[in-house]
Amino acid sequence: MVTHDEEHKHRAFLAAAQLKHAWQFQRRGQRPDDDPVEIDIPVGWHALLNQLFADVEHQVPAAERGGFRWRRMRALQGALEIRFDGVRERMTAAIARARDAAAVTCETCGHSGLRRQVAGTHRVSCDAHFLDRLIQSDVAGEQAARRWWATPHPGLGERSPAEVAQAGPPPDVLLDLALRRAMPATPRPNGAHRQRLQGVWPVLRDHFGERLRSLRLAEFEPESGPGGTLLAQIAGEIDPTAQAGAATRLARAGFSDLRLRLVTDGDLQAPARANDPWSAMLALEASVTIPRYQPAVPR
Ligand SMILES: [Zn+2]
Repeated sequence: MVTHDEEHKHRAFLAAAQLKHAWQFQRRGQRPDDDPVEIDIPVGWHALLNQLFADVEHQVPAAERGGFRWRRMRALQGALEIRFDGVRERMTAAIARARDAAAVTCETCGHSGLRRQVAGTHRVSCDAHFLDRLIQSDVAGEQAARRWWATPHPGLGERSPAEVAQAGPPPDVLLDLALRRAMPATPRPNGAHRQRLQGVWPVLRDHFGERLRSLRLAEFEPESGPGGTLLAQIAGEIDPTAQAGAATRLARAGFSDLRLRLVTDGDLQAPARANDPWSAMLALEASVTIPRYQPAVPR
């Protein structure tokens, strides 16, 4: 949702950058609509982009500026995507710095944040703006969300979410409540679905061994197409590369339609603090168990 205020800030940001660093934004053709530079950067990242433009200004001497221009800059699923024409070796460090800064900077306000998903969309958000995103995804709709926001809640010491949020950064209990309200319907797979899904067990058991505790299915709506979220509960800490490795195994075994998410016991005890709070809450509130695969007993 882009408000007029954001649109205004975006235009002001672009105009200032283009004025200050004109050579970084040159067009290819003569007409104003020829091959334009595409820039769509959320407000919270403006400062770090300005830093990048200044770094590049500083590092690329006038004699080497010909042929260079930014081609595309945007936030893509919580990551800063940067493309440009004209390779400049000396800029790679500045670009890496901008990407690293973006990964921990709230896209909305510029305070420190984490990359977190809400209903499949990833963005970097501080806790307050993560809460905002969750409220916008309330499955009961905008009106119900507004009512909830203003109503005292026993879990919040009889204060309303609004009062709690006003007092400071949202506590975990408030994030958990908002997460729960944003959860999609719990899937109801039929017999054929269940039978197919049981085939996931041996694949992931082979990959994780005894560490695989349970498998659950969420965000599964066979009427609107294939796909669904497969939640694997893993004992102990998760290696950052584990998810990609296991997802590759699954795809090879014919389950490329399932999005694999790994959750730990710790994630389930404190969903708001999990690496992926959305998936932790799906596992707790909006998923069904996939029964363990039982090979047929020979008679
Ligand atoms: Zn923020």
